[in-house]
Amino acid sequence: MRALTVAPGIANSARVEDVPEPPRADGAVLVRTLALGVCGTDREIVSGSYGWAPPGKKRLVIGHESLGEVCEAPPDSGFRPGDRVVGIVRRPDPVPCPACAVGEWDMCRNGRYTERGIKERNGYGADFFRIEPDFLVKVDPALGDAGVLVEPTSVVAKAWDHTERIGRRSRAWQPQTLLVTGAGPIGLLAAMMGAQRGLDVHVLDHHDRGEKRNIVRRRAASSASSACRRPATISTSTSAASIAPWCSTTTRCSAASMPTASITRVRSRRCSAPTRLGSEA
Ligand SMILES: [Zn+2]
Repeated sequence: MRALTVAPGIANSARVEDVPEPPRADGAVLVRTLALGVCGTDREIVSGSYGWAPPGKKRLVIGHESLGEVCEAPPDSGFRPGDRVVGIVRRPDPVPCPACAVGEWDMCRNGRYTERGIKERNGYGADFFRIEPDFLVKVDPALGDAGVLVEPTSVVAKAWDHTERIGRRSRAWQPQTLLVTGAGPIGLLAAMMGAQRGLDVHVLDHHDRGEKRNIVRRRAASSASSACRRPATISTSTSAASIAPWCSTTTRCSAASMPTASITRVRSRRCSAPTRLGSEA
């Protein structure tokens, strides 16, 4: 099968190559990849400044924002062929630390966690991947290709969860306004989740024109205003020096209206067992 691989630590070493079919050790569920998201972490890995190959390997299959279709799954796995799925990226550390021990590996305390496509585990940037059922999330097929945004959206969902729990320390906390600094994919998703919550959404970014601005106005806001007051909640996605305000009143959005700018379509092929075409680098 084909895979998108990189030699971590070596700039511009990314290439598409033939690799062995995904090993059973990766998990009992076989998934055919439908789409792959690309984020800043992927750019850092390709530039040679981040990422780790699996132990004993020189190359890493990259890709951690996934969307796939189940090809094979054990009867008791909770999945069946045809399900649309997204793979969880991180795996708990082997110690485990107190956070990983209670299933909160996103809060790992010792840094010995591993991550698909990033840290010591091959990722989802291949024709097929295998995965453990416990680390697979079923998504609504109605999302279409936007299902690949479930993983980056989970980053924002966690930020919302923490923000709301912190805010509720005061019973008087009634947020009305959202300020998002940075209009990258995460910032745009944050703006849309703010719109879903009925907040007055403001987005600040280096660029004051172009598609990002259009997405904000189409997806997270119904009209523009020059006022930018009373920010009650701040979601930071990038630095925001020399920023341009896009201030708006909000309308509700739906998941199906998510931006697709960061989606890379991988292929559309019938679900069949992967074929071994070459050797892993
Ligand atoms: Zn841990």
